[in-house]
Amino acid sequence: MADILVVLEVRDGKVRPASLQALGAARGLADARGGRVLALATEAVEPDLEALGGAGADEVLVAGAEAHSPDGAAATAVRVAGEEGADLVLLAATIRGRDLCGRIAAGLEAGFAPDCTALEADGEGLLFERPVYAGKARMQVRIRTPKAVASLRPNFFQPAGRSHSATRRDVPAEEGKARVVEMKGRQEGRPDVAEARIIVSGGRGLGGPENWPLLEALADALPGAALGASRAVVDAGWRPHSEQVGQTGKTVSPELYIAVGISGAIQHLAGMSTSKVIVAINKDAEAPIFQHATYGVVGDALEILPKLTEALKAAQAG
Ligand SMILES: Cc1cc2nc3c(=O)[nH]c(=O)nc-3n(C[C@H](O)[C@H](O)[C@H](O)COP(=O)(O)OP(=O)(O)OC[C@H]3O[C@@H](n4cnc5c(N)ncnc54)[C@H](O)[C@@H]3O)c2cc1C
Repeated sequence: MADILVVLEVRDGKVRPASLQALGAARGLADARGGRVLALATEAVEPDLEALGGAGADEVLVAGAEAHSPDGAAATAVRVAGEEGADLVLLAATIRGRDLCGRIAAGLEAGFAPDCTALEADGEGLLFERPVYAGKARMQVRIRTPKAVASLRPNFFQPAGRSHSATRRDVPAEEGKARVVEMKGRQEGRPDVAEARIIVSGGRGLGGPENWPLLEALADALPGAALGASRAVVDAGWRPHSEQVGQTGKTVSPELYIAVGISGAIQHLAGMSTSKVIVAINKDAEAPIFQHATYGVVGDALEILPKLTEALKAAQAG
């Protein structure tokens, strides 16, 4: 049976959690249908073979380009997939994953299933599942080309969690025309909003950037929480685009999504409606977000946020 190639995303010299989750998904598939799981690092990284093997990789291929290059990384993945005879290429459905997937699919003349939340092998081949219409429906996708490319939504799959050390092999990197020189707008000390298990997200209802410390204090009281934002807030320049959740921002699926002063426009829901638990705080009881919320609090966020933060701290102290 053909192998599965997982293209790893590396940030600050570390493989991102969403890539470890993709390795876990690949492992499950390889165990069911046979074949190896190959992990490809397209940029310089000293791979943790225990961690990558434990997540699901049999072998780690290090192409080791000095900096990330979208066209270079895609060309490397296309070449390696061909050389290794991989019939499936998986990536995390992050911003970078989105950028690479189409390029790799085009290079392999392969069908492409973006932003999948489930995948399985059945008698007819590979079957992918993905949310559509802002999470209101799920679509099953059958790819009929000899090779397939899919991106996997973060937090829907788990690393394999096995005790195994992968082997390492160095492979040449393809030159790209474009090269990433700097990443801006990151939340220091907080996880990326696309991968976080808890997100505290703010909207126009917060009134202005001067009230963001209230949101940050709540995030600080929830270990591992990231900050998110609606587009209205990003367009107003209150927060960076890297925090924007929604159709033209990031797609997130945390365990807990707290939407504060966010109305729940369809374009915002498109990015967060697959969150496991949604808590909405809004002073308008008719706000659309309440139709999707697991728990709703009707009231003024500026009054509720400090009380909620204090209650959380007290609960943790007790
Ligand atoms: C093509 C396109 C793409 C888009 N992509 C995105 C996207 O990726 N992400 C996104 O978020 N939006 C996106 N939008 C914009 C989207 O349609 C909404 O305009 C936006 O989500 C609204 O942001 P908001 O909820 O913060 O603001 P508003 O809609 O203004 O809502 C503010 C909410 O805060 C409440 N409120 C006010 N004061 C308080 C208070 N003191 N306490 C508690 N609640 C209060 C109000 O009742 C209201 O519900 C897109 C739009 C288009 C056309």
